[in-house]
Amino acid sequence: MTENTATHTGTPAIEVAGLRKSFGSNEVLTGIDLVVAEGEVVSVIGPSGSGKSTLLRCLNRLEEPSGGSVVVSGMELTSQQADINVVRQNIGMVFQHFNLFPNMTVLENIMLAPVDLRKKSRSEARAAGLSLLERVGLSEKADARPASLSGGQKQRVAIARALAMEPKIMLFDEATSALDPEMVGEVLQVIRDLAASGMTMVLVTHEMGFAREVCDRVVFMDGGTVVEQGAPEQVFGDPQQTRTQEFLSKVL
Ligand code: ADP
Ligand code: MG
Repeated sequence: MTENTATHTGTPAIEVAGLRKSFGSNEVLTGIDLVVAEGEVVSVIGPSGSGKSTLLRCLNRLEEPSGGSVVVSGMELTSQQADINVVRQNIGMVFQHFNLFPNMTVLENIMLAPVDLRKKSRSEARAAGLSLLERVGLSEKADARPASLSGGQKQRVAIARALAMEPKIMLFDEATSALDPEMVGEVLQVIRDLAASGMTMVLVTHEMGFAREVCDRVVFMDGGTVVEQGAPEQVFGDPQQTRTQEFLSKVL
């Protein structure tokens, strides 16, 4: 989007080079190179099993790379010196399933990590949590239990909870795939607002229309490798590789 592109500084937020990941003898990432600029919004698309989730998980060390390097906000994640807690505080991640704590209220879910990990005072975390709830349109749900929320509302709480750590980067792994269709739009709207605010984001998504509208760049993965990447109009409108053409012909 132009408003978002204007905020790019050119400083890489994420630099992935030669990233490999194997599970046993199964090499699922076979050498990924990817640079994401600060403020850039990148969507990763590709068939099931192509390694999209594994790539995202390597970006915050939920998976240990087998080879190559991952540099996030100037920090080499695989180095001995990397403090994994600092790394994770800088990168928020939202999953397909929301993983909210069922025995806590919505607001307590959001306050937990800032109080426990960031050592914020409860009153500070509470004020920040309420403001985040307003941002995702759920102020009235602060004292509700997750079980009483719809799927779309739960996912918006999960996004607010990730934002409560004030991350520099947000990763979304199929954040709308588990939702009923009528709830997809409200979650995409929150992601759209984040993009407009200049947040650096990597989104794995099956929402091709959304990727086309919101993202600065689309990365098509297949077989553990980046097959093609470019501006959305380029990749969706005039894909260069046969594998990209075949995939898009099935999903568009
Ligand atoms: P995608 O998100 O594109 O569907 P994934 O990254 O989830 O793909 O998976 C890529 C491949 O890695 C798949 O063959 C999957 O079975 C395998 N895989 C992913 N996670 C694990 C794991 N923890 N252990 C073993 N194999 C895994
Ligand atoms: Mg996946």
